[in-house]
Amino acid sequence: MPDPRFAKFDYPGRLIAVEGIDGSGKSTQLRLLKRWLEQQRLKVYLSEWNSSELVKSATRRGKHTNLLTPTTFSLIHATDFADRYDRHLVPLLRAGYLVLCDRYIFTAFARDVVRGCPPEWVRSIYSFATLPDLTFFFRTNLEVSLQRIRDSRRELKYFEAGMDLKLSSDIEESYRIFQSRLLEQYLAMSGEFGFHEIDANRSIEVQQHEVRRIVAAHIPLENYVA
Ligand code: ADP
Repeated sequence: MPDPRFAKFDYPGRLIAVEGIDGSGKSTQLRLLKRWLEQQRLKVYLSEWNSSELVKSATRRGKHTNLLTPTTFSLIHATDFADRYDRHLVPLLRAGYLVLCDRYIFTAFARDVVRGCPPEWVRSIYSFATLPDLTFFFRTNLEVSLQRIRDSRRELKYFEAGMDLKLSSDIEESYRIFQSRLLEQYLAMSGEFGFHEIDANRSIEVQQHEVRRIVAAHIPLENYVA
């Protein structure tokens, strides 16, 4: 049954999204999936959850001066997403591509709700978007994700650690609290949106095998040959 809260269309393309907290390994899995699909000579495009040029400077200015409220923060990100959605994702879906999204609207739902926006309000803001054909939720324990980020020696960023929420003055502690709240939101959304949950505490290879099996079972890949 299609979810009446979101746009529905009959474009030939298919949308596959990956979600999960930082360090859950979703980008790694999506890149491997992309390579596998390309090896089969399929039409594939990978889209990341980055700011578009349209709102980048506004977002940056607002973030640095702490001028944004949960509502304005949410609306700026929604505008940003709408720009990418209309200019990139929809044309590719219309052209019959397998569009792989590294994070999708569920990322906004989780973050905005943790920042204090009402869940139904956030969902209604994104009602112009279609739901993915497949959404993978890479479910890790918080400590596993944290360790992966430590191992990759990547610096924690201010907003990824939720420092704007003043949860703790220690960035790692803030990160831990913020990410555990995001994880709670993902768990709550899993049933609501029919996520395919992947136990992401396991090895890269085992997970990738499962991801490929699910994709092949749900999407007639032979229809997407370039
Ligand atoms: P995300 O996109 O969810 O933030 P990444 O795919 O960037 O996560 O992975 C974060 C780090 O963890 C990277 O250094 C990556 O090589 C490593 N990694 C990813 N998956 C696994 C795994 N299953 N086991 C161990 N390390 C992993």
